[in-house]
Amino acid sequence: MALDPKGPITQLHGVGPQLAQTLAKLGLHRPIDLLLHLPFRYQDRSQVRPIAGLNVGDEALISGQIISTRVIFGRQRSLELVVRDVSGEIRLRFFHFSKYQQAAIERSNYIQAFGSVRFFGNKLTVSHPEYQTFAEEPSAPTPDLTPVYPTTQGLGQQRLRKLCKQICALPWPDVAGAPYATLQALHAPTDLESVPALQEQLAIDELSAFYVLMKGRALKRNQERATALTESSPLAAQLTANLGFTLTAAQQRVADEIAKDLAKPLPMLRLVQGDVGSGKTIVAAFAALRAIHNGGQAALMAPTELLAEQHAQNFRQWLEPLDIQCALLTGQMSAKHQREGLAHVADGTAQVVIGTHALFQERVTFHRLVLVIIDEQHRFGVHQRMSLQGKGGHPHQLVMTATPIPRTLTMTLYADMDVSVIDELPKGRQPITTHTVSQDNRAKLVERLHRVLQSRQQAFWVCTLIEDSDEIDAQSAESTLAALTQALPEHRIALLHGRMKGDEKVALMQAFKRHEIDLLVATTVVEVGVDVPNATQMIIENAERLGLAQLHQLRGRVGRGNLASRCFLLFKPGLSAAAKHRLNAMRESQDGFYLAEQDLKLRGPGDILGTRQAGEESFRIADLSVHAHLMPRVIQRSEALMAADEHSAAAAELQQLLEMWAPADDRHLNV
Ligand code: ADP
Ligand code: MG
Repeated sequence: MALDPKGPITQLHGVGPQLAQTLAKLGLHRPIDLLLHLPFRYQDRSQVRPIAGLNVGDEALISGQIISTRVIFGRQRSLELVVRDVSGEIRLRFFHFSKYQQAAIERSNYIQAFGSVRFFGNKLTVSHPEYQTFAEEPSAPTPDLTPVYPTTQGLGQQRLRKLCKQICALPWPDVAGAPYATLQALHAPTDLESVPALQEQLAIDELSAFYVLMKGRALKRNQERATALTESSPLAAQLTANLGFTLTAAQQRVADEIAKDLAKPLPMLRLVQGDVGSGKTIVAAFAALRAIHNGGQAALMAPTELLAEQHAQNFRQWLEPLDIQCALLTGQMSAKHQREGLAHVADGTAQVVIGTHALFQERVTFHRLVLVIIDEQHRFGVHQRMSLQGKGGHPHQLVMTATPIPRTLTMTLYADMDVSVIDELPKGRQPITTHTVSQDNRAKLVERLHRVLQSRQQAFWVCTLIEDSDEIDAQSAESTLAALTQALPEHRIALLHGRMKGDEKVALMQAFKRHEIDLLVATTVVEVGVDVPNATQMIIENAERLGLAQLHQLRGRVGRGNLASRCFLLFKPGLSAAAKHRLNAMRESQDGFYLAEQDLKLRGPGDILGTRQAGEESFRIADLSVHAHLMPRVIQRSEALMAADEHSAAAAELQQLLEMWAPADDRHLNV
């Protein structure tokens, strides 16, 4: 019976319900998904390495005679083999082994094993190698490269390899032509040199499918109805008069672009990019005025409690003089406050609702939600964004990000959105001078800081993630706090870290804003959006460990007033080439877009875009740090395919592209 590539995966030989469940964790539901599940790297097992030539860190195939086997009863029971070839001896060690495995090894004379060489009790050892035993001296190893697949708990490489081999050997009734051969070749390439070209072919297909889907979303959106938010003139004029500053030309331009969208009876989806400090919040406030003037509600969602609180303060200051009611909803609020807040949101008394992801909760119902504003969108998953959208038919959406996104990425990943850029900072901002400082010169830096704090300016001292653990992170911040408190006894120093309660964080931040604290020692919770104009010094520990996007965000916490600001990047000597490049880029440039381009080259898009790229919309093959240059070709091809007649060959090609590459939920989208 012919296999249905889009049928259940249990059609495959050896795949029962249990394995199917494990495969589902990897997003592998159908045979075709497995065909598209490509190795993320390859191992070279085509050459046997002489044992005497092995070094720590090598990943190698060895082949030799089994000299001895013994079980060692230590803290953890292990099985140890000594293996010898003509050049020397090495140990293999297994910590988990069955009786059956042990007996089979003891019966055999020869073994071929593949794994990483490490020191174990001073001896070169390969722990948990993949292996095969032989009675007689084995013949030559496999000539093809061995694929290494992304996998999950309970699913070994061997098993995945077998499944993929099975898949590649099958006749594919529906998946015709070139992509199939290319996929097959990528599962088992003969040499590494051929891989990039094969990947490029597939990347073009995948990106084309993605582009078409994004455009399809935009088209679909344009078939929905939304409330046309026509004007807001009396309110807007009042706000403008009260502001105390005038909008920059870029802010005004973007505000106009938004206004034009909102006036249409189609749901807006506009991304506003603006570097840190470019003044996105006030632009959002003008959009909210339109919603309110037209009798609707606006919701503003921020990624952290701190930011939600700060936005609430700003909005209240701007809008309450205009008799507009703002409500704050966060997960940290008391049950009573939440209940009150929820009631005001439901009956429409609250015209602007500001909050964190607490706004997503099912029990939040809006009276008449017409505008959704999402701040720092890269912090949210697409699904979260969508679920807020579900709360009010088809509200307009304004999405803001301070992470400048290189144009090539915008064209692809945000092809469903309209994009505005605030490419100008408010007047009077002083440039931030950036210095790189070796940790050896810490004492001097602290001395300097003392003088600046004496002149009534404030500072951040950011302890960056040392380990991937909140606990250890907080500890390192605490010891830094202790050291600084001792070194700077005349100054008021406080600690802000991610494990503090939301209201504690907010209270501390407000005290810092009121200048009751001179120096704020913090973990990277201050990364996003916090605005304290009198803070002029930013010291970042272990700056060499951070990516450019994050460094740029952190630096953006200073330089917000009209005093000259400085940023100090503390680093540990012995920098890698990439770290050197990053720190130099930071010293030389304050242009977020330039830094993002550099970041894309150095680290790939996942780090720049956060969830959107890393989460549900990640690509299987395309890697935009490598393949961005293909975009002009991709767009040209996609536009041509979309314009083609319904029954043409191009339409069939498009259909096939989508069937192959579209993620499960979008698979049947009509374009
Ligand atoms: P971001 O774009 O990083 O979110 P914010 O909206 O927090 O920036 O604005 C940063 C600071 O600049 C705020 O204190 C804000 O009130 C102020 N600001 C915004 N626009 C202007 C302007 N046109 N002139 C002067 N200050 C402004
Ligand atoms: Mg902001």
